[in-house]
Amino acid sequence: MSWENNIRRVVPYTPGEQPKQQNIVKLNTNENPYPPAPGAAEVLAGFDTALLRKYPDPNAQMLVDAIAKTYGVRPGQVFVGVGSDDVLSMAFMTFFNSEKPILFPDVTYSFYDVWADVYRIPYETVPLDADWRIRPNDYARPNGGIVFPNPNAPTGVLESLDTIEQILQANPDSIVIVDEAYIDFGGVSALPLLDKYDNLLVVQTFSKSRSMAGIRIGFAIGSEKLIGYMNDVKFSVNSYTMNHLTIQCGAASLADEPYFRDCCGRIVKTREAAKEKLASMGFSFPDSKANFLFATHETVDAGRIFEALKQRSIFVRHWDKPRIAPYLRITIGTDEEMAKLYAALEDILREEAGK
Ligand SMILES: *Cc1c(COP(=O)(O)O)cnc(C)c1O
Repeated sequence: MSWENNIRRVVPYTPGEQPKQQNIVKLNTNENPYPPAPGAAEVLAGFDTALLRKYPDPNAQMLVDAIAKTYGVRPGQVFVGVGSDDVLSMAFMTFFNSEKPILFPDVTYSFYDVWADVYRIPYETVPLDADWRIRPNDYARPNGGIVFPNPNAPTGVLESLDTIEQILQANPDSIVIVDEAYIDFGGVSALPLLDKYDNLLVVQTFSKSRSMAGIRIGFAIGSEKLIGYMNDVKFSVNSYTMNHLTIQCGAASLADEPYFRDCCGRIVKTREAAKEKLASMGFSFPDSKANFLFATHETVDAGRIFEALKQRSIFVRHWDKPRIAPYLRITIGTDEEMAKLYAALEDILREEAGK
């Protein structure tokens, strides 16, 4: 059919499974096992539905101001969107318009190549080294922009600010996006580098560390000039991306710093215990500073473990892709959920050993 010649054809991103069954242990999409800040529930309970008649504030100023205050930047340095996926997509559209390829790691968030394809952005992947680390020198070559998560996903590996600064220094003519979706679980944010580099964009999300994946809030912080360009593109696509309720819930979450710190601390504690437990069972993994572990077993195939866990209603993530097929990405849940995981794994490994 001739009309099909003019379609924008893309292979979409595949999100992690959201099973409908009850009573499952869901460790497959890096959601936070703890509830969002109690202030968010208060916003929901007290929400005035008369507001729904009106368009929301297109600038989401209340949320922008709260983010600026929390991170010690000016409101003009903050861009908000419907999850960081929306923010990253806008950033790709705004900043990656060169004929030269953008660069990102070969093992990384699998949405980057999808956005590059949908926006017709040329790209090249840069292999991580054998320890899943970024070699900054690999990024010292002509490019149309750079993006990587820190900590990386799905490996959990954290790069130092020194590494990030080396990449920035080698690339004064490119926008460098650092996707800090998991930075609150023990990482060091690149935000202080903004004072020195006006081509740096730091992207974060409320989905992981703030337990709000369901309401969709992400944000970017950069120089006022960068954020101005992003807003021009956003207001050329859809002015009203953030709804009233989301804006208020986001601000309520930021207002409760102690709750946020406590939740992150609990996950870090559970993660460190998981490292010991899984290592004792024959798993190995790069050292994770995220809310997940990227683990491979010394004898049993990851695909088999994935299926066997699923049969026991425990969901983790597995990709049949080069380099990462031997690994499972396991989200850190509550201690109770992790105890169920360990019991199931012991059971599965015993069964496999007996075969
Ligand atoms: C989860 C995740 C995101 C996006 O999360 P949102 O829910 O859209 O905010 C972005 N980058 C990485 C690396 C992620 O893991």
